[in-house]
Amino acid sequence: FSGAQLAGFAPACVLGLLLFSLLYVQLARPMQLYINGVPTVLVQDEAQAQALLEEVKTELAALYPAAANLRYEADLTFSKSGVEVKAKSAEASEIRTVLKEKLDWKVDASAIQVNQAKTAVLASTEEAESVLDTVKRAYLPSNGNVTLVEAEFVEPIEVVTVEASIRELDSATEAVQLLTQGTEKIEEYVLKAGDSLWTIASENDTSVEALQAANPNVGEKSLQIGEVLKLAKAEPMVSVKTVIKAVNEEKIPYSTVYEKDSSAFKGQQSVVKAGTEGKKAVTYEIAQVNGVELERKVIAETVVAEPVNKIVKTGTKTIVASRGGGGSGVLAWPIRGRINSPFGQRGRGYHTGIDIDANKGDPIYASAGGTVTQASYSGGYGNCVIIDHGDGLSTLYAHLSKLSVSVGQKVSRSELIGLAGSTGNSTGPHLHFEVRVNGGYKNPINYLN
Ligand SMILES: [Zn+2]
Repeated sequence: FSGAQLAGFAPACVLGLLLFSLLYVQLARPMQLYINGVPTVLVQDEAQAQALLEEVKTELAALYPAAANLRYEADLTFSKSGVEVKAKSAEASEIRTVLKEKLDWKVDASAIQVNQAKTAVLASTEEAESVLDTVKRAYLPSNGNVTLVEAEFVEPIEVVTVEASIRELDSATEAVQLLTQGTEKIEEYVLKAGDSLWTIASENDTSVEALQAANPNVGEKSLQIGEVLKLAKAEPMVSVKTVIKAVNEEKIPYSTVYEKDSSAFKGQQSVVKAGTEGKKAVTYEIAQVNGVELERKVIAETVVAEPVNKIVKTGTKTIVASRGGGGSGVLAWPIRGRINSPFGQRGRGYHTGIDIDANKGDPIYASAGGTVTQASYSGGYGNCVIIDHGDGLSTLYAHLSKLSVSVGQKVSRSELIGLAGSTGNSTGPHLHFEVRVNGGYKNPINYLN
């Protein structure tokens, strides 16, 4: 180059370089992406934004494969005006996030309507139907021996196609919980030291009544640390009516047959044969709403084992009332007086006779004719007389202050046998009077006239 040439070339070079770099900067300058007119993110150019948009769409389509017609509704525009020359476009990952979140992505979805109100929204009709099926089965009893006859919703239920934002889509699990509990999740609270229903209610923006309704068994016991309380009560949005068939094995009670026995006294009973319960298989048809029984019908009964009757012999023989026979058939009062303590269960013990009020020295008479088999002091009975009236019947007179008969002596009905007292295990003068049939204690009241 000559000096003159150089002198002319250099400025041209500088100018060219300047023009080139201006053009370059202008070309590399990012564009502002406007979503619905709002400047949102800087992108390299429209082509990059479109490519990233396709990537986002593919990603969302994979997340909601069952949802049809994935699309967004927004107006995208690009402009370089107002973008600084030296500004840089955002990272591709950031642009993708913006496109995912700022665009209102929509799908054709299926909503479950209960009483014409939209509840859960699912990606497809198949998913919605499957959710409804799960909800129906949620109320089926799980024990064996049960078959389902029918299950249906009480409320009118419809599955309708709706345009839904992808954010609205429920998973099948969320949808089932929403329909059965009224909420997608019931919050729980773990009890710690010092908690009361009142403090838990005020900390969690609820009421003691609501906590009690959500945890029905809480009122019956004291709160334990570590126990888990539900903070809200499940309020199902749907009612499922189920009709099930259940087979129960049940007992058949036995009957008691009484047979007359002229060799035993009236009032005397003996079991000749113990009864045995039978068994039957009963098939019920049970209607329930949300697991709560409404109605049960017996639809079949099969006897598995017949019951066996209990046979009891009852005596018909009347009591021999006097040594001479031909008496009234009942016992005479050994002394007239108030009953201080009746026959039967007394506290933890059993009172084997009746206590008749008496004063010390009052005369005591034989209840019926018979033979004296005991006339002596006998432990807690004190001075005690026992008279055998024959045929298994005997009477006993206890706590006497004086004995007027001796063993082996024959006595007549209403003959003096001793004087009332308080000997033996006794706190004051009275007559303890017993009636025994074949050694068993009987209530004297049933034998006295
Ligand atoms: Zn007594």
